[in-house]
Amino acid sequence: MFEILDQYQVNELHVRNDAVSGLKAIIAIHNTHFGPALGGCRFIQYNNDQDAMNDAIRLARGMSYKAALAGVNQGGGKAVIMKPDGYYDAKLLFSEFGRFVESLQGRYITAIDSGTTAKEMDIIQQHTSYVTSTSDTENPSIYTAKGVFEGIKASVKHKLNRDDLQGLRIAIQGVGNVGTALGHMLDKAGAYVIVSDICQANIDTAMSEFASEVVAPDDIYHTPCAVFSPCGLSNVINKETIEKLGCMIIAGSANVQLENHLLGRSLHEKGILYAPDYVINAGGLIYASSDYQNHSKTVAMDKVSNIYYTLSEIFEQSKLTNTASSYIADELARSKLYGAINQAA
Ligand code: NAD
Repeated sequence: MFEILDQYQVNELHVRNDAVSGLKAIIAIHNTHFGPALGGCRFIQYNNDQDAMNDAIRLARGMSYKAALAGVNQGGGKAVIMKPDGYYDAKLLFSEFGRFVESLQGRYITAIDSGTTAKEMDIIQQHTSYVTSTSDTENPSIYTAKGVFEGIKASVKHKLNRDDLQGLRIAIQGVGNVGTALGHMLDKAGAYVIVSDICQANIDTAMSEFASEVVAPDDIYHTPCAVFSPCGLSNVINKETIEKLGCMIIAGSANVQLENHLLGRSLHEKGILYAPDYVINAGGLIYASSDYQNHSKTVAMDKVSNIYYTLSEIFEQSKLTNTASSYIADELARSKLYGAINQAA
């Protein structure tokens, strides 16, 4: 346990095991230097508790890096709840989770993630105020999509030296919450939008509202396009798919797009511009943080728009030093985080 905590420089790991509700939950707090740790609560099935713990630790660091580069005053944290195999009472389970969050006295603020929705956040809210994304807040996906849209514009400017998206082929993998909102923005900007999804209803909506073409899920990788925008799954860039890519730019909302960090360098060597996932998809975090702190929507939108400039800076550094953009983003996040911590020490 301490080996992986050291590796990811995670400061705190909290565990709650409750026999009555069946709650088995882990909260990892990477650090709270810039403010309370803010990060989603994942509710999925895990093969074992080691996998659940590793997920919480890895994701908590990701949230710290995301917050540092998005300029929000939050630390990084993440919660995972191991989804029971059989029957469970959601009200009991999430109530107990709410009490668990409350017991940390504000060092961790929870939010939605895979497997949780505003409905679960509403239950949690009955037991703690350290919660965002309840049903009385906006859907953060629209802010995430806006950030990805800005990121695509920054990528196109850097790679193709163009200020507009008119006629550009942009392929979106996954037209769920974020992919659909993004598709509308791209269509409005004049792009030729290609989509793929495993859900026919989502494809139908996309085709009737903004998309010009649909391709099969496996064909999206080799579809010739300027931008490939992963907005569905994790680990989509792996040793198989990297050989097929038909794009010049990868810029999408999906979390953990690279199966391993070395693939960042492979993309760089292939001349494919990669917009690091946790930089381009920070819009949802920016909104959640801003909403929690009662800032205006304008403040949130300004920060989301800044994703354009943060990515442009990363791309410039990447070009100047001939280093993968994903490595530059990690270095920049660490220097913001640990530079500030060292200064305070
Ligand atoms: P979602 O569940 O609403 O949409 C995902 C879509 O991907 C669905 O339509 C699903 O059918 C599709 N999909 C699944 N497998 C696929 C496959 N093999 N090929 C093509 N499509 C497939 O999720 P979302 O909220 O839109 O989030 C999308 C991604 O962005 C996720 O990785 C999420 O973690 C990440 N993200 C989302 C937010 C947010 O604000 N929602 C913020 C940051 C990161």
